[in-house]
Amino acid sequence: MGSVNFAELLESLAGLGVDVLAGFDRDAALRVGLNPARVRSWQRVHEVYFGATKWTAQQRRALERARGGGLSLHQLEYIETRLSRIEDARERWELRHQLLAVRGNFKALQAAARRILPPAAPKPPRKKLSFTGSRDGMRGFTGWAPERQVADLESALRRGLDLDQPEAPQLMDAFLALLGGTRANASAVVPPAAPRPIVLVPLDTHVDILGGRGDDTLLRLTDGTTMTGAEYLATIFGEGPAQVRAAGVGEAALFHPQRGAVNLYRTQRYANAKQRVLASLTAPGCPVPGCRHGADNCQIHHITAWRHGGETNLANLAPLCRYHNRANDDDPRARSRGRVEMVRGAPRWVSPGGRAVANPRHGPGAMELLFGG
Ligand SMILES: [Zn+2]
Repeated sequence: MGSVNFAELLESLAGLGVDVLAGFDRDAALRVGLNPARVRSWQRVHEVYFGATKWTAQQRRALERARGGGLSLHQLEYIETRLSRIEDARERWELRHQLLAVRGNFKALQAAARRILPPAAPKPPRKKLSFTGSRDGMRGFTGWAPERQVADLESALRRGLDLDQPEAPQLMDAFLALLGGTRANASAVVPPAAPRPIVLVPLDTHVDILGGRGDDTLLRLTDGTTMTGAEYLATIFGEGPAQVRAAGVGEAALFHPQRGAVNLYRTQRYANAKQRVLASLTAPGCPVPGCRHGADNCQIHHITAWRHGGETNLANLAPLCRYHNRANDDDPRARSRGRVEMVRGAPRWVSPGGRAVANPRHGPGAMELLFGG
């Protein structure tokens, strides 16, 4: 193909109507590098005008109108975008005919769509609160609650605001103070998450930190957060300022590269609690790829189900969040949603096709810290 100048480009684009999509081929379009969103949009138009449907008379009429009106491909795509929220098929055809009858450029079609289409009724918000994963030591949360209570909350938080300072960080400080301030405060409205998180430490790192060479080393905790070597010294061994010591971390688990688990400071009293702890250490979070739940928010899952004879021992236990515990294929032959299996001593999600996939959101588990990925 020779080079195309802009005037020629416009001419060829303007000439594109509904019939260029008669032979639509999704794979061919993706192969030559077209934007998948655009390809999906063409597919929608193709299905309306050329796809199998029980509305054959409607389809024929629409095709005639699209051809007769000379609507551009962009206009046909726009029509389908706007119609996508109309749920009733008959109503959708009726509105499509009206939009296809519009003459003029793209702006004219947009104006007509505003006139013709019923205004979208926004879904009423439902009561909810949700939390994000961590980023740079922070976590987000967002929610909806009855307006009266939120108004009361906002009014309480605004009391004593310094108007010369940015208000958003002050509101958060006031909110945290309302919840009870530091985690060490026994009378806090919000007690520390239980069980308290455990910090995972490879033995050589532990030695470095004790030797004063690892203050900035980041250590991973079982609730998905991190702490520095300096904070580790302060919380576990009581060296350092009291406010750091009281950060709410319960225990530290040390691992040796060959001998495995070396020590769990302040050991658990009950065997089942210890199993829970060790299972959490092999996977610092739910092993299903993309899942954000740290091990402390997980249930302990039997990899071979109890009812299939699976035992409650460490080789058979993995932390899974509540949702993925339910969604797991307990029967290895089911192969529909994937399942968690033990791969070299650590729980891994295995796809229905049999491929083991890590969940990078939680960083390495104890076995990877010991033996590498
Ligand atoms: Zn999960």
